[in-house]
Amino acid sequence: MIRVGINGYGTIGKRVADAVTAQPDMELVGVAKTRPNFEADTAARKGYPLYAAIPDRAGAFDAAGIRIAGEVTELVGASDVIVDTCPSGIGAQNRAMYEAYQTPAIFQGGEDADVADGSFVARANYDSVRDLEYVRVVSCNTTGLSRLLAPLREEYGVRKARATLVRRGGDPGQSDRGPINDILPDPVEIPSHHGPDVKTIFPELDIDTMGMKVPATMMHMHGVNVTLESEPTAEEVRELLEAESRLFLIPEEADIDGAGKLKEYALDAGRPRGDLWENCIWGRSISVERGDLYLFQAIHQESDVVPENVDAIRALCSDVDADESIARTDESMGVGF
Ligand code: NAD
Repeated sequence: MIRVGINGYGTIGKRVADAVTAQPDMELVGVAKTRPNFEADTAARKGYPLYAAIPDRAGAFDAAGIRIAGEVTELVGASDVIVDTCPSGIGAQNRAMYEAYQTPAIFQGGEDADVADGSFVARANYDSVRDLEYVRVVSCNTTGLSRLLAPLREEYGVRKARATLVRRGGDPGQSDRGPINDILPDPVEIPSHHGPDVKTIFPELDIDTMGMKVPATMMHMHGVNVTLESEPTAEEVRELLEAESRLFLIPEEADIDGAGKLKEYALDAGRPRGDLWENCIWGRSISVERGDLYLFQAIHQESDVVPENVDAIRALCSDVDADESIARTDESMGVGF
């Protein structure tokens, strides 16, 4: 059993905790939280041992009637690996603590790439992190682009990739984010940081990206153009992508016209929190013109990186290979429609 600790129990951390609990080869040692908010309450109800991320604030948990199992350093010491799901920048500050306890750690995409010794997307570069101790699971958008580009590169070769990212202003719970009524180039610099981030996964790839931010909370939307080295038909590309477990090709007859119906579908299907772990690609949008592929895909920012974190744990802490890990994760979480 791989003993896993989670430091930072918010949007990503609570999902990773549930996913780890579902794995037959992993055990959740506990989760570290800064304060006894509603997420601490639900963690306690699920029976997850709670550790105080900031020891001086441990008393606040007592006052709220939530039992604390110990301090975060005890969680780090008792775990084979820590998944750090703290807000951007805090992970980098935490690395010294993980090093002090010689506990490997997995950071998230809000951290700079140099927080870790390698960046990770299971379908693209699982084996490249096997001998490392500190790894970063890339952001939701970089994960979505890399999952799509991996099979295209292998099957057809990619001459150049371009993506326009229409990004949600904030997650549903982020009442302090925006815009409320505007459309922003964000970042205004071109290329946006997403392209260079994809290159942490595929260093040789030629990719440019542009970003915008809109008043939406549900998902990101990508308009993607990939210039391939060969000239497959749209049907051949569709078949290639359909064979990937973490790519969901939205069938035309499903009558799903946007992120709203996608989320509704996930909820109807009984997905926890309405999560969509797969890239959601409109099958009808897949078009190829003399080697130029175009498509639309929606990315659920709160959940697509969750199965990637589970695979990153196995890549660091076991001998399980990429195909087996992805299959195990998908099976236990229910990834794939
Ligand atoms: P979040 O704010 O929802 O959760 C972070 C949690 O960490 C909060 O509960 C916060 O109280 C806690 N925390 C703060 N300081 C802490 C500390 N010192 N020690 C322990 N816990 C602490 O953030 P999130 O959206 O889950 O993002 C976490 C990471 O995942 C970031 O790097 C982010 O960029 C990345 N990420 C987020 C998304 C997304 O859309 N939410 C998608 C992909 C990757």
